[in-house]
Amino acid sequence: MKTTMDFPPELGRIDSVPRSILTTGQTPLEPMPNLTKHCGGAQLFVKRDDCTGLAFGGNKVRQLEFYFGAASAENADTILITGAVQSNFVRMAAAAARKLGMTCHIQLEERVVTEDPRYHVSGNVFVDKLLGATLHSYPHGEDESGADRQLGKLAAGLRDAGHRPYIIHLAPGHPPLGSLGYVVAAHELLQQILEIDLPVDEIFVGSGSGATHAGLLFGLRALGSSIQVTGVCVRRDAISQEVRVRNTCHEIATLLDIESKVTDDDIKLIDSFLAPGYGVTNAATSNAIVIGAQTEALILDPVYSGKAIAGLIHQAKLASDSSTFVFVHTGGTPAIFAYQKDIEEALAISDGSSD
Ligand SMILES: *Cc1c(COP(=O)(O)O)cnc(C)c1O
Repeated sequence: MKTTMDFPPELGRIDSVPRSILTTGQTPLEPMPNLTKHCGGAQLFVKRDDCTGLAFGGNKVRQLEFYFGAASAENADTILITGAVQSNFVRMAAAAARKLGMTCHIQLEERVVTEDPRYHVSGNVFVDKLLGATLHSYPHGEDESGADRQLGKLAAGLRDAGHRPYIIHLAPGHPPLGSLGYVVAAHELLQQILEIDLPVDEIFVGSGSGATHAGLLFGLRALGSSIQVTGVCVRRDAISQEVRVRNTCHEIATLLDIESKVTDDDIKLIDSFLAPGYGVTNAATSNAIVIGAQTEALILDPVYSGKAIAGLIHQAKLASDSSTFVFVHTGGTPAIFAYQKDIEEALAISDGSSD
């Protein structure tokens, strides 16, 4: 399925990149008056990308529109994808595959050490199974190229058996199709901001692969906006992540055949909520998840959106009440069931009160 949309010429050839529409339209931009009051600093708003509308939603739906566009253009019938055991990306790929009449092979990487048995059976894993994806396991969670090579072997086997596989790669070095979803989202968000004349100073977003962060930043700058985008690191430290985001911005420029307006100074990152590492929560994050739920009824996860909102809360408290921040809620809903133990511990400490 190829869809033509009305994008301004500033976004280059994005209209002509194959895209399978999977989102339900615009996600809401909402004020967060209770969290604003809780922090006592910046005026806070949330872009509800947890409501993108496919099997619990999240940011990956926007990214997958372009991967599935490419897969459909190649007439693929089977999608292969790799990710952490509680990956939201693989869950949504399994969902998108069903919607588009394809099958999905998921490779789950052991990246996280945990004592909670729910991690390997509940949350996203359970949804993957419900969607009928074929699950494979990969033991080396830190070897991105190795994970891709293993997918390549699975794809070769499927091809021999008469299928038409399409691989969604994990490691850098492939066209950043997923980022294009966030170039589109930058256009959408900018229109919403202009409609209500919101004087946004800063946007906060989780920065994992960096596809969301880079796409958003690239799109905003291409459209002439100078709003600061702050990525909250959830996968690797700020120094390594900056390289990723910068490279991805260059790759987007190549893909869209336009010049990048992103400067090195534009890439802002906070990594103080990353510890002890990917997929493992910390006290500030667990506490932020409880605050998000009990002020604005937001469901945030310990791996991504919880760490990102911990960054937002920290910065909002330091800012003056004349500044305006937007939090991009990237989803992760099913993961709360896999991390129930951590969240229950935070609840016990907060004693049911967010103050
Ligand atoms: C993957 C993910 C992110 C990070 O997005 P990237 O594009 O990989 O940087 C943030 N939040 C949630 C819920 C995710 O699943």
